[in-house]
This record gives sequence, structure tokens and C-alpha cells, in this order.
Amino acid sequence: MKKIELHWQILIALVLSIAYGLLLPEYISWVSWMGTIFLNALKMVIIPLILSSIISGVANIGGAEDFGRLGLKTLGYYILTSLLAIVTGLFFVNIIHPGVGVHLGTPEAVHGLNQASKSFGDTLLNIVPANIFKAFTKGNMLGIITFSMFFGFFITQTTKKYQIILTDFFNAFFEVMMKITSFIIKFAPLGIFGLVAKVVAEQTAKGNLGEAASSLGLYMLTVILALSFHAFITLPSLLKFIGKANPFKHGKAMATALLTAFSTSSSSATLPLTMEAVEKNDGVSNKITSFVLPLGATVNMDGTALYELVAAMFIAQAYGLDVPIVQQFLMVFAALLASIGAAGIPMAGLVMMTVVLSVIGLPLEAVGLILAVDRILDMMRTTVNVWSDSTCAVIIAKSEGEKLKV
Ligand code: ASP
Repeated sequence: MKKIELHWQILIALVLSIAYGLLLPEYISWVSWMGTIFLNALKMVIIPLILSSIISGVANIGGAEDFGRLGLKTLGYYILTSLLAIVTGLFFVNIIHPGVGVHLGTPEAVHGLNQASKSFGDTLLNIVPANIFKAFTKGNMLGIITFSMFFGFFITQTTKKYQIILTDFFNAFFEVMMKITSFIIKFAPLGIFGLVAKVVAEQTAKGNLGEAASSLGLYMLTVILALSFHAFITLPSLLKFIGKANPFKHGKAMATALLTAFSTSSSSATLPLTMEAVEKNDGVSNKITSFVLPLGATVNMDGTALYELVAAMFIAQAYGLDVPIVQQFLMVFAALLASIGAAGIPMAGLVMMTVVLSVIGLPLEAVGLILAVDRILDMMRTTVNVWSDSTCAVIIAKSEGEKLKV
């Protein structure tokens, strides 16, 4: 019998999990453990994977000149796509005006809100971690990335003997991490079944979805339309015209990773799958994926950036605030910063919105007004975040003259 491809298995699991969550919510603990173990397994590999991939990637890039060129290109592309996404959101929110005349009631309390607004500056300072072991245990991805880049780069500055030993060691370490990843990915359909069934059961138990849909429906529609425009038009156009790659083939190559991003709402947890897909299915070299993708999962969040702006504008509209164009312009940059500062974990974008709200002087608690529909929007924006990282890897690889399968 022909084996069903993994992304089909995941799609079947998604459909079944929705049915299970709706029909058997009281038996959710029978299946939710599969989701927890799957997510734990992904989290288990993320830090050693980022560490080994960036060190081996940067060491293999070679000299300072190549590293500088690749770094600038990658960051430039990330900022460009995030800004394009934000402008798309701005366009849709100004045309649809989802918040005008909406009565939102009292905001629900959002956990970690004050902390997020206070710690935003710290997030930026933590790019250089004072204690690397603390960065590991606290999951400070930016800090780990900085350390790994330094380590990888300075490997290339040591004597030939050490260069060979260390590069070989980290190449081997990275290969083992990728092998563990491939093994974990085999369990994706089961893990996703457990994760999604739990989300469906929880949302149904809250029972406020129908009510929320009436006041937040147009807001959701605006976010979804803008995200779709970015995912189906802007990014594929960049792939086709700048990267000279086939967006359909690349979409197929990414299917499993994208479905996982959707199900986990976490670009960090999806990173192992993104790396495997871009390397194995697209044929991008290890040198590029191992540098571009971990960085992307941490700082490049087009979906989140777009959402930050639409959500903040929606709240402003609901408060009856007329945001002048200059302030909207400032909000664009605040949304960019918030998306860079947001971690690749569920709901990070929601709490980071305090950064954008403070630009227009709205109370931070206002974030609680859109909490009811955040989970579903989180699933969608995370998928767009991962999609954007992967298109970047393909475009950079092509620009470096690599021959790809897409
Ligand atoms: N969940 C998103 C991600 O991991 C971040 C966000 O909440 O927007 O990419």
C-alpha cells in the first residue's frame, strides 16, 4: 500500500482533532498528552539546534566579508517584508474600518501585560546576554543567536588546526540535531491531533466565540484578508520575481512545516521542521538555512507585524480615536519593533501590542478586548511568519547562486 504523505496525514489529523474537540471535550486529557509530548520534544531540540546550526553555518560561511554580505542581505530582506506586511495591514484597516462604532465592553485580563511593556527595552538589551547559561535556561533566543554568531565567526579566526576540529565538531553536532528532528517530525500527526483537539475543546468551553464574532468579526476578517494578501500575493511575487523560484513548488515543499506552525502557534517550535523542509525539499544549502532560519524564527514575523498594526488601529477605532497619518506612520515602526521583539511562542504578539498602543496613548489593558479571538489569529499569523522566513532562505540561496529544486 502506498504510504500517505506526511502533510496529508497532518491534514487528516487536523480534521479529526476538530471533531474530537467538539464532540468529546470531556475526554480531552485522553489525547492532549500527545500534543504536550510533541511540543516538549520540539522545544527540547530548539536550543541545541539553534546553537549548532548557527555556529556551523557561520563557520562554514568563511570570512568576514561573506558573513557581512549574507547578514546584511538577510536583515534587509526581513525588514523589507515586515514593512510590506505592515503597510498591507494599514491599507486594509483604513479601507474596512473594522472598529468604527463597535462596543467592546470590558477588557479581559491578559497575563504578562505589564511585564511585556516593561521588559521590551530589556529584550533589546538582552541581545548581548550577560550570562550565556542563563540565556539557555531562560530561552533568550536573541542572546543565544548572538553568542553563536560570535562563536562561529571567531572559529574562522583561529589557527587552521582548531578551525578544522571545531568546524567538524559543530557540523557533526548539527547533523545529529537534524536527525533527531527528522525522527520527531514523524510523530507530527499525533502531536498535532492532541494540540488542536485541546484548543478546540478549550475554545468551545469558553463559549464566547459566537458572541465575540459579532463585535470582532470584521476585525478578524481584516486581519485574515491582509494576511492572505501578504501570503498569497506579496511573498510569492518576491519569490517569483526576485528569487526566480516557483512559489507553488515551494509551497508544497513547506506543507508540513506550515501545518505545524498553524497547529502550534509557535515559529520557534516549528523551526526544526522549517529547517528540514527548506534543506531537504527546496535544496537550500545548510550554510544558508542554518544562518537565515533561526534568525528568521526569532526576529522576522511578518504576520505578527501586520497583526500588531491592524489590532492597534482596530482598538483605536473602537475607542473613537481618529489616528492622524503621522501617528499611523509611527505605529508602523512600533509594529516593526514589536514584531522583532516578540518571541516565537503562542500569544507573544498579543502582549507585545502594548508597544504599539503606547504610541497612541491607549491603555495597555485594551489588549484584553481582542483576547477572545486571538488564538485563531495567532495560528494564522504564525503560519505567515514561517512562510516568510522560508521564502527568505530561498531568495538568499538563489542570490548566492545556489541551484535549488524550486
Ligand atoms: N505566535 C507567534 C509566533 O510564534 C508570535 C505571535 O504571537 O504573534 O510566530
